[in-house]
Amino acid sequence: MNLILFGPPGAGKGTQAQYIVKNYNYFQISTGDLLRNETKNKSKLGNKIEKLISNGEFVSDKIVNELIEKSVTDLKFKKPIIFDGYPRNIQQVNNLDRILNEFNQKILFVFFLNVSREIIEKRIMGRITCSKCNLTFNDFFNKNEIEKHPCGKEFLTKRTDDDISIAISRYDIYMKKTKPVLDFYSSKKGFHEIDGSLKIAQITSKIDHILKV
Ligand code: AMP
Repeated sequence: MNLILFGPPGAGKGTQAQYIVKNYNYFQISTGDLLRNETKNKSKLGNKIEKLISNGEFVSDKIVNELIEKSVTDLKFKKPIIFDGYPRNIQQVNNLDRILNEFNQKILFVFFLNVSREIIEKRIMGRITCSKCNLTFNDFFNKNEIEKHPCGKEFLTKRTDDDISIAISRYDIYMKKTKPVLDFYSSKKGFHEIDGSLKIAQITSKIDHILKV
């Protein structure tokens, strides 16, 4: 029952992973979360990871593979696992394969949340957060909610342009580097491409449709 959630930054992998964890009793392993957790240590390794992440670059396979191996070994597949943000290149595909074999496990589903660069740009550029209640909206997609927001529009703030350029570069790097991974899985049974520009509930319902069979 293990599955891979695959898609560029901003595609909504985290949101869908949380839904699957809650409704289908999965464990989630997100390499992004594992790496962000490492940066909290402020160790030499943590600082190195922090720099790579904030520049939008990939962290080395050695570091990511070690983190994955440790998590999988801790969880021991007591529940099926969602691999979120991993594998991102062919070396990582091979490493995952090796680990799965060790535990006599398989990947049953690969969900590719596909979102165009144009939509990602709108998602990022339109993103505004309420400094009072911390809710996030989007200038392009949530005009009504923004008008009616109870804290008042004066609390809604945008992120800097710098974040936008890094996020767009993360998108480009992801699409370029993970293309071979996509090519590898797309011909396999259990691969599903889902339009990641749909509303959250629409994506969830597509996932339900596949998992409930
Ligand atoms: P994410 O939360 O999946 O968007 O990941 C955030 C950042 O962590 C990425 O932009 C990369 O810098 C790093 N990262 C996450 N997963 C991987 C991976 N499998 N391989 C290399 N770097 C990764």
